[in-house]
Amino acid sequence: MTDSTASRIERLREQIREHDRRYYIEAAAVISDLDYDRLLEELRQLETAHPELITPESPTQRVGDAAVDELTSVRHVRPMLSMDNTYSEGDLAAWAARTAKQLGSDEPIEWVLELKIDGVAVSLAYDDGRLAQGATRGSGLVGDDITHTLRTVGGVPLQLSLASPPPRLDVRGEVYMTNSDLVRLNEKQAAEGLPAFANTRNVAAGSIRLLDPKLAAARPLRFFCHGLGDAGGLPIHSQTDLFAWAVSVGLPVAPWSQAFPSIEALIEYGREQIEALHELDFEVDGFVVKVNSFQQQRRLGSTSKSPRWAIAWKFEKYEATTTLARIRVQVGRGGTVTPVADLEPVQLAGTTVSRASLHNADEVARKDVRVGDVLVVEKAGKVIPHVVRVEKHLRTKRLTKWSPPTECPECHTPLVRDPEGVYIRCPNMHCPARQRERIKFFASRGAMEIEGLGEKLVEQLVETGLVRDYADLYRLTSNDLLPLERDGA
Ligand SMILES: [Zn+2]
Repeated sequence: MTDSTASRIERLREQIREHDRRYYIEAAAVISDLDYDRLLEELRQLETAHPELITPESPTQRVGDAAVDELTSVRHVRPMLSMDNTYSEGDLAAWAARTAKQLGSDEPIEWVLELKIDGVAVSLAYDDGRLAQGATRGSGLVGDDITHTLRTVGGVPLQLSLASPPPRLDVRGEVYMTNSDLVRLNEKQAAEGLPAFANTRNVAAGSIRLLDPKLAAARPLRFFCHGLGDAGGLPIHSQTDLFAWAVSVGLPVAPWSQAFPSIEALIEYGREQIEALHELDFEVDGFVVKVNSFQQQRRLGSTSKSPRWAIAWKFEKYEATTTLARIRVQVGRGGTVTPVADLEPVQLAGTTVSRASLHNADEVARKDVRVGDVLVVEKAGKVIPHVVRVEKHLRTKRLTKWSPPTECPECHTPLVRDPEGVYIRCPNMHCPARQRERIKFFASRGAMEIEGLGEKLVEQLVETGLVRDYADLYRLTSNDLLPLERDGA
């Protein structure tokens, strides 16, 4: 062996760590999977020739050889507490007021909003910057040792990028799976004649408790860091410090976290984010609201069950299960073509729901929604119901994968994809669907409310060619309208 072999090995490990960081933290891979695998393969070959240079932190060592016989218990250095819940903005504001009062009414407080990932809470112990132990939350005081499976989780660094790491660091976070990874995993399951997994949370919870790390490695799990059991004397003084630090040492953090000078500003931001939740490729069951300053957190302390400086702000969500009768595509007034789910009517939060949004073709693919599927639909806040997930374990027969249309369902013009690639649209300015939607928009909430101009009448007016634009509305005479059916218009 030469020095250059040792340094080549070290360089390869650093390169692979850097690519992992870019992939899991910045979500921006700079090399192809093939090139990544080549680096890993070169490292593996060098290590095979020089086994004395293998270290447990080498990226080749994520999957240990042996399965464990059983999971052993681990006592947490600091208890992993659970959080109080609230479902209303009023209760959240009341909690913030109580918290402020406890700290002294004049003291400024920063509030942090984080996504509450619907995954599995774990702790990771790093000794001298190296992953030494991973554990489930368990009772909060004692969990199960799952080091062997956590080593295989994407985004969990085996070694932190820290120049002078503390002797022990206790990192807290959430193991989860993305919706698109679940779709791919279930395709593999189906190809092997195995049953599909119901949802991302269940597969994450089951996978980290597997005894064989090879099986766990075949499940594409990921990790987000959201706390420290013990800062190990690092200069981290707040939740926002923690996020910046985590990213710098190679620990992924969830998107959208932000600090606010008032609870009102936080609530307003949270309300806006609820509308955008469907853009995320992982399941979220609410927000977590925390006091930003660690010093204030310490002064607030905990009850026996939960910290006083944090609360889960869960969504007032109503879920129902129903069957997807068909996927229809709708053309908006700007030409955007969106898939809509026609459902077997179901009661949801006191109303009958027979339609749900599927947002865009990518989302249909990501969630792998097929006609005939049993779906979980959800209504959060005032948002129109959307499809949360497919109950794939209930998929009995082979259902056909949905593919987006290539031409406009109304004018048959070939559809185009927008530059960002998410939406497809009908480029025809004179598309009857676009005209109809423009007039509907104009009649309902534009400059004027037009009495009696309902959806059905607009459809008839456009169909018969009486109206092509808003201006046509004013040229209509009662004689024009007489032959039209007026049922429910
Ligand atoms: Zn069209």
